[in-house]
Amino acid sequence: MENTYRPNDLSLSLKARMALEKHVFRFTHSLGQNFILDENVIGDIVYAAGVSSGDNILEIGPGSGIMTAMMADKGAKVLAVELDRALEPVLTDVIGERDVKIVFQDALKADLNQLTREAFGENAKYSIVANLPYYITADFLMRIVSLSPAPDSVTLMLQKEACERVMSEPGDKNWSALSATVRYFAHAEVVMDAPASLFTPPPHVDSCLLKLHMKKNRPLDQAEEARLLNLIQAAFRMRRKTLANNLSASFSLSREETLAVLEKAGLDAKVRGEVLTIDQLIDVMNAMYH
Ligand code: SAM
Repeated sequence: MENTYRPNDLSLSLKARMALEKHVFRFTHSLGQNFILDENVIGDIVYAAGVSSGDNILEIGPGSGIMTAMMADKGAKVLAVELDRALEPVLTDVIGERDVKIVFQDALKADLNQLTREAFGENAKYSIVANLPYYITADFLMRIVSLSPAPDSVTLMLQKEACERVMSEPGDKNWSALSATVRYFAHAEVVMDAPASLFTPPPHVDSCLLKLHMKKNRPLDQAEEARLLNLIQAAFRMRRKTLANNLSASFSLSREETLAVLEKAGLDAKVRGEVLTIDQLIDVMNAMYH
C-alpha cells in the first residue's frame, strides 16, 4: 500500500503552515495579520456564517486562504479582497484550483459594489465573511451600510470591544455613532467568543464573532437614510454636550430652531444624543426635515 502523502491529501491547516514557511511569509502587525490556522476554528466560523452550496461570498483579508478554501469546498463562489501581495504565492498554494477570485486591493478603497457585480452578477445575493484586520473595523462597518445591493448577512471576527460597541444599547457608555448606524441597518448577534490564543501570532486582546443580519425592510428611503446618518454623526459629535448644542453646531441652527426641532420630536431640551434610541433619532430627523 502506498503511504506517501500527495499535497492534495494534506489538511488545509498543514498546507497553509507549509506555504507560509516555504514563501518565508512575515506577519505584519500594522496590517492586522493575526491568522487563524486551526481548521476546526475556521470550520466553526464558516458554519456560523451559514455558508452553503451556491452561496456568493465576499471575504475580506483571506490571509493564508484556509477559510477561503473551506468556503469554496462547501460549494460557495468566493471573491476575496486582500491588501498584502506577499500573500499571493501562499494563497495560490492553499487555494489551488478552487472556484475563487482573489483581488489584491484595499478593502476600504476598492469599489466593492463593482467587484461583487463582476464576480457574482448584477443584483446577485451575497454575504460577507471575514476575520477582519482590526484596524479597519469601524471604517469597514460604516462601508457595509453603503453597499448596493446590501449583503444578506455579514459575519465578522472582531476585537471584543468592537462587538461590545455594536451590541450596546442607548445610554450605555459604548453606544456610539457606529452602534446606532449598524443597528439601524442590521440585527446583530454575537455567535462565538474567540480567545487571543486561537490566533497566530496571538493579538493582545480577545475577539468574538459578530453576525449581522441585514434588515430587508427598513423604514426610510435612501435620501432619508443619508440624513439619518448625518444626524447620527452630529448627535454623537461631542459626547458631553447636549443634543441641542451638537445639532446647532453641526447644522448651523439657531438655539430657537434647535429647541423647536426637539420639541417637535417630543424630546427634552437638555437631552444628550447618546441616550437616544434609533426611533428617537428618526423622530429628530423627521422633525428637522418635514
Ligand atoms: N482570513 C485570514 C485568517 O483568518 O487567518 C487572515 C485574517 S487577518 C486577521 C486579516 C487579513 O486582512 C490579513 O490577510 C491582512 O493582510 C488583510 N488586510 C489588512 N488590511 C487590509 C485591507 N485594508 N484590505 C484588505 N485586506 C486587508
